[in-house]
Amino acid sequence: MKTGQNLYKKAKELIPGGTMLLSKRPEMFLPELWPSYFSKSKGCYVWDLDGNKYTDMSIMGIGTNTLGYGNEEVDKAVLDTIKKGNMSTLNCPEEVYLAEKLIEINPWADMVRFARSGGEANSIAIRIARSATGKDNIAICGYHGWHDWYLSANHNGNDDLSGHLLKGLNPSGVPKNLKDTVFPFRYNNFDELLSIVDNNDIGVIKMEVIRNFGPEDNFLKKVRELANTRNIVLIFDECTSGFRETFGGIHKKYGVEPDMAMYGKTLGNGYAITAIVGIKSVMQSAQNTFISSTFWTERVGPSAAIATLNVMERIKSWKIITEIGKKVRDGWKKLADNHGLEIKISGIPSLSTYNFNSTNHFKYKTYITQEMLSKGFLASTIFYASIVHDDKIIDSYLNALDDVFKTISGCENGDISIDNLLKGSVCHSGFERLN
Ligand code: PMP
Repeated sequence: MKTGQNLYKKAKELIPGGTMLLSKRPEMFLPELWPSYFSKSKGCYVWDLDGNKYTDMSIMGIGTNTLGYGNEEVDKAVLDTIKKGNMSTLNCPEEVYLAEKLIEINPWADMVRFARSGGEANSIAIRIARSATGKDNIAICGYHGWHDWYLSANHNGNDDLSGHLLKGLNPSGVPKNLKDTVFPFRYNNFDELLSIVDNNDIGVIKMEVIRNFGPEDNFLKKVRELANTRNIVLIFDECTSGFRETFGGIHKKYGVEPDMAMYGKTLGNGYAITAIVGIKSVMQSAQNTFISSTFWTERVGPSAAIATLNVMERIKSWKIITEIGKKVRDGWKKLADNHGLEIKISGIPSLSTYNFNSTNHFKYKTYITQEMLSKGFLASTIFYASIVHDDKIIDSYLNALDDVFKTISGCENGDISIDNLLKGSVCHSGFERLN
């Protein structure tokens, strides 16, 4: 653990922010004490730089690895690709095979573009949609990445992204001219969306299909109808929700189809590949603008995605991870009940999180991470399920958590002070949302 902490100190001098992803900053888990770096990962196990082995019961690479780390079949496809050559002057055929497969999974769609990160895929989708409609203005709901178009919402002057990303986010470096081009609406608040559309010449609606909770009062159907009647391009951001409840987007579950959808996270089981699928009339507008990048043509991403989709389809991984997520949630609930603690569980089963109904929530969360680490688990109050989290692993995790909940119950009752139990500082709070 020590070696990782020392390296992280160096990283903060060399890399602004220490790491490229906010959610993987050690401060988000256990400041000063988190192992920080891995030397090896396999299944749901992770080894730190000092050779300590942990069971990952937290964010599993931030939701990338629903088939576990180093899935044999996916890795074999990737290694075969590397042996044959990852790059060349010619294009890789896998991108066409993958496009075909994604259209089969999304029969409403006709065409596909690929990228390598979720934020850039969303930027591509927005560029295509703006080009197709000829309109600048967008209504959004949820988190869609770090790019200018999205962060510009905070130039509107109302801390607009507070409920979608982070509170008080300064969009420094994002051109102020983009003010009043992106208008956030709250999930399940159709009237708010309607008023934004009525008043701002909206050409595109971009949204997450679900947030920490699902649609109510036919929300998604109403959004679809609104987009139809106002000639608006509807984009579903399935970056995180895709392939967790269906073989494809979670929109399949709700019977509402978008004009474009973006898939990320799970698509390559840890290898970088993201996709935008859409209807031809909109997607063809990619030809009226300029969207092109060197590494979008490398071969590992599509090879990994084809193999990942094959495994997912064969074993119906979305069903397995949903069951696993439910087991963990039931376990949390039982432990909380047994120890007289009040917790609120949210998210879909395979992306579950809980909060203590207590002003000490963040201190308890930090304590859980601290104690579970010493018992050999990477854990906080979030659990992203993968197919390798079997009953034995879940039982040993819940067993270890039992003691920790017992102590927290003592803190809630005033018998023990949580401040005396923490060995370092309290974890930082992150997104206002699940992932
Ligand atoms: N959209 C959604 C819904 C996401 O959950 C995320 C990642 N958390 C993104 C976009 C951004 O993806 P990336 O981090 O790969 O840029």
